[in-house]
Amino acid sequence: MTLLVAGLSLSLSMLLGVFFIDLGAASTARARAQAAADATALAAVAEVSPYGTGRQEAIARAYAEHNGGRLVECRCVVGSTAVQVSVAVDGVEATARATFDPAMLSPGSFAFDGRGLHARLAAAVERLIEATRASVYVSSGYRSPVEQAKLWSEAVRRYGSPEAANDWVAPPGSSMHERGLAVDLVGDIPFAARMIETLGLPMYRPLSNEPWHFELAGSRS
Ligand SMILES: [Zn+2]
Repeated sequence: MTLLVAGLSLSLSMLLGVFFIDLGAASTARARAQAAADATALAAVAEVSPYGTGRQEAIARAYAEHNGGRLVECRCVVGSTAVQVSVAVDGVEATARATFDPAMLSPGSFAFDGRGLHARLAAAVERLIEATRASVYVSSGYRSPVEQAKLWSEAVRRYGSPEAANDWVAPPGSSMHERGLAVDLVGDIPFAARMIETLGLPMYRPLSNEPWHFELAGSRS
């Protein structure tokens, strides 16, 4: 099942509330598993919106449990505006996919929070969001050491070893996000990259395996 999420904020919380209604004894295990998967997918995709924290997998796990199930899989790629989850309830598994469409939010919704970011990077990102008419936004900017440690331990659990986790998340103490020198963008990233070039903004992508990750120019020199 694919769900398109628009006008998040209030309507999303109302929508999620619906899924908590007890479906009753007559309903099949299949319906319960699907309802749990739908709620989980919606909750996870909300995390990539401007209101979210970018922690899709942790939120998905929590929502699956709230709905009496267990998260089997979360295809929650950083930088993507879609998530797909599989949730098992009493041994029955269901899959749901949810998409977040940034174009359906008003530009006013993209107020950018540059707290903790280097002032030059914050100014560049603000100009970029304006210039792209909010077709990109920041899913993750400054991270405290505690937030980075949390992301790191989630990645180690998910990928099985610190070495494998390294490919996805920087270990605590070594992330440019902790120094306020990096942002992760979501949305039309190729367009954003072209605008950075056109406007001569001091941002670049140092990591070929993370096309959504932008740093302040000169951050590594
Ligand atoms: Zn990043």
